[in-house]
Amino acid sequence: MLVNDRYSRQILLKNIQSDGQEKLGKSHTVVIGCGALGTTVANNLVRSGIGYIRIIDRDIIELNNLQRQNLFDEDDIGLPKASTAAKKLEKINSNIKIEYIVDDVNHENIEHVIKNMDVVIDGTDNMLIRFLINDACVKHSIPWVYGGAIETYGMTMNIIPHKTPCFRCVIQDLPDAGSLPTCDTVGVLNSIPGIISCIEGTEALKILLKEDINRDLLMYDIWSHDFHKIKIKKRKDCECCGKHNFEFLNAKKKETLISLCGSGAIQIIPAKSPKISFEELAEKLQKLGDVYIHEVVLRFRIPGYEFNIFRNGRTIITGTNDKKIAKSLYAKYVGI
Ligand SMILES: [Zn+2]
Repeated sequence: MLVNDRYSRQILLKNIQSDGQEKLGKSHTVVIGCGALGTTVANNLVRSGIGYIRIIDRDIIELNNLQRQNLFDEDDIGLPKASTAAKKLEKINSNIKIEYIVDDVNHENIEHVIKNMDVVIDGTDNMLIRFLINDACVKHSIPWVYGGAIETYGMTMNIIPHKTPCFRCVIQDLPDAGSLPTCDTVGVLNSIPGIISCIEGTEALKILLKEDINRDLLMYDIWSHDFHKIKIKKRKDCECCGKHNFEFLNAKKKETLISLCGSGAIQIIPAKSPKISFEELAEKLQKLGDVYIHEVVLRFRIPGYEFNIFRNGRTIITGTNDKKIAKSLYAKYVGI
């Protein structure tokens, strides 16, 4: 197989050429999260000839993922996302190195996950992990590309430590648990993560090629075609890039999970205690399962699992002893 032929259409581009292709071949990238954003961006980067790609994701493929997570098919249901994606990607490009990790990303392993990487790509749907990526990337001066998509809109921004504003310059602190919509509560059209992840992948190439990158927060709604470029200012008092106070990396702000022995249940205490409106949460959840509100607890049942959610966000999930599964369920249905 002729390697040059593989990339010939890319090398023809005046923005890349042979020198650029060689640089990409020597580059290291990690894609954190392998859902709708992660599968598309990993697919593009593998085909572009990035020399080394690491993929990390904790989740298992479900039927409802197939609508938008374009490396997976019906035979993959029940398998881990990261390893399944890696196997598909190896068939697409056997000239590069692909590593996968089936694990949760947390304050204990994030520095290992991004170690020796030239750029970090956000394929998550989780605010807590984004704050963690931001802390670790600013601390180690590694560029990262933020991306998010929900319903029909999405956003992306490049964070180049010490040059551009960081994620906490945009969003100062972790939103309250239960305050944000999630793809599992309000849905997502498959084309919007497709577009956002294509922008993320392109920006990653530009970062690797040391080209001028976009410095704005980009927002796009594919239904209305509203597009905004929002100028973000670096905040001098930013806890992360201003004061180097890495609260998420240092676990001052973290989720706490406790196994409730023998009961097949996990208790989750969110990183930031909210005051949850049971009425608003019930409105989101009643389309997805049985909801019952008691004075102090909101009970939500889906096949196999029962959630007991308290007003401060503390939640007991019955039906699993696996902390990774409990974290995923919490992020999906309560939302961080
Ligand atoms: Zn900042």
